[in-house]
Amino acid sequence: MKSNEALVQVIHEKPSELDLAPLIGEMLVRLGENPDREGLARTPQRVDRALRFLTSGYHLDIRKIVNGALFDVKYDEMVIVKDIEFFSLCEHHMLPFFGKMHVAYLPRTKVIGLSKIPRIVDAFARRLQIQERLTQDVAQSIQNSIDPVGVGVICEARHFCMMMRGVEKQHSSAITSAMLGAFRERKSTRDEFLALVKHGSSGV
Ligand SMILES: [Zn+2]
Repeated sequence: MKSNEALVQVIHEKPSELDLAPLIGEMLVRLGENPDREGLARTPQRVDRALRFLTSGYHLDIRKIVNGALFDVKYDEMVIVKDIEFFSLCEHHMLPFFGKMHVAYLPRTKVIGLSKIPRIVDAFARRLQIQERLTQDVAQSIQNSIDPVGVGVICEARHFCMMMRGVEKQHSSAITSAMLGAFRERKSTRDEFLALVKHGSSGV
């Protein structure tokens, strides 16, 4: 190349490794669809964005969520947040499961801002999950954040992978629980929690 020739560089935009759209397009073809028909024209991009949102919990730092919302108090009664709606994806089929979570704890020296508890639930729900682990994750993160005397979490959920395929049990719901500290050791604490959850609960 002569030195007085302009150097023209074409910078090809590298397809991001993280871009799922081509994979979704390929999936549509393999499912026997025509990805070029009008209705599907932007579907790969939409699915990409939807899946990113539904798995955005991987990028959330629980410490950042609760930071600034931890308060020292003298309060030793049970704190309970009921009927927290959540939507998650089962890791076996990547189909939704959804329901309600009830979260309670007995403070030791700290409480956590009430609005932060649903955000903790979302942070763990927006991942590929199984209901049992989701329940444990929420309980454990509250345990780690404020070191309470105990934590109790009950999760009621319905699973699309059961409702739409296979057994097609459309009205069955699964209930899981995680009990830590006093909630595990003291029946009276557990009973108080269960009574508070049952009172006025609307079910899934
Ligand atoms: Zn499943």
